[in-house]
Amino acid sequence: MDTASLLVDYSTNNLKHDWNLDSVLQLFELPFTDLIFFAQQSHRMFFDPNKVQTSTLLSIKTGACPEDCKYCPQSGHYNTGLKKEKLLQVQAVIEEAKKAKAAGATRFCMGAAWKNPPAKEMPYLQAMINGVKQLGLETCMTLGTLTKNQATALATAGLDFYNHNLDTSEEFYSNIITTRTYSERLQTLSNVRQSGINVCSGGILGMGESVADRASMLIQLANMPKHPESVPINMLVKVKGTPLENIKDLDGIDFVRTIAVAKIMMPKSYVRLSAGRQQMTNELQALCFVAGANSIFLGDKLLTTKNPEASEDMQLFKKLGITTFSTFNDNNKQSEITTSVTSKKNSNKLYYDATTASV
Ligand code: SF4
Repeated sequence: MDTASLLVDYSTNNLKHDWNLDSVLQLFELPFTDLIFFAQQSHRMFFDPNKVQTSTLLSIKTGACPEDCKYCPQSGHYNTGLKKEKLLQVQAVIEEAKKAKAAGATRFCMGAAWKNPPAKEMPYLQAMINGVKQLGLETCMTLGTLTKNQATALATAGLDFYNHNLDTSEEFYSNIITTRTYSERLQTLSNVRQSGINVCSGGILGMGESVADRASMLIQLANMPKHPESVPINMLVKVKGTPLENIKDLDGIDFVRTIAVAKIMMPKSYVRLSAGRQQMTNELQALCFVAGANSIFLGDKLLTTKNPEASEDMQLFKKLGITTFSTFNDNNKQSEITTSVTSKKNSNKLYYDATTASV
């Protein structure tokens, strides 16, 4: 297969926004080692390959969500035995952020199980953003859909990132969620982008979707006018009491392939290895890093599901020779990295021109 036509010449720093299903499926079908090799090439054009960004995620309002996302223990539609909690006090959130910083996180993400943040809670959310920023941490929130005005209010408070996942392809979406439309999701992402907040958006694998669905979801993200700065790729955590609790396990290699394709399509984005790490071996996580994942959540909990202990992550990083980015802004020196890589490219065989490669 001639892969040259599938790959993008990133040496000009231009990103591609017109992916089509055929070309993305061809990437998915590449021999594994070729796919990983191309993903590494894309990754090294824009990032230090031995650095990973670390965030911590706190649930600031838990459970009783009116949405019916079939994977989610926080949905009020399913009985998962989850303890519901109202919005946490601002000071309690700030104390958790201090702990996250001490454990090595550089970004603090706050998640609330809402359809849309209630107006009466907005001042508290703004105070949380303010307090967490004062600790020197980047801030991220995931609160459901956002109107333009809400996105602007959060941006004004200084919010750095907003997470709103597409979850899956538009075609498969109605199998997973019926209470919120795909276009509402896209509208929220557009509102976030227009407000100037960095966009964090990705999906969940292992919900019964096809490879074409994974490709289609990545196309939605990569064909946006600007790629999301952060692309979380989650492995489904099968929670008892949710409709997906007994679904077939996702194959680890299929998961790595999706990370690699995401990195080739959106090479400048941080691809986050998100939920599901608890059920992955160190070797599978290492393969994900090799495929271009360069962001993780630290901490023993992800909203309501388990995550590896921070100390386990640090041990794995040490084994792999990985260090962490200090902050997004500090380390998002992509033009600098690109320049350095481009100059290395001429003298170092680790870097070769993907556009002339064929297998
Ligand atoms: S994923 Fe979010 S929107 Fe969906 S049920 Fe869970 S908390 Fe609600």
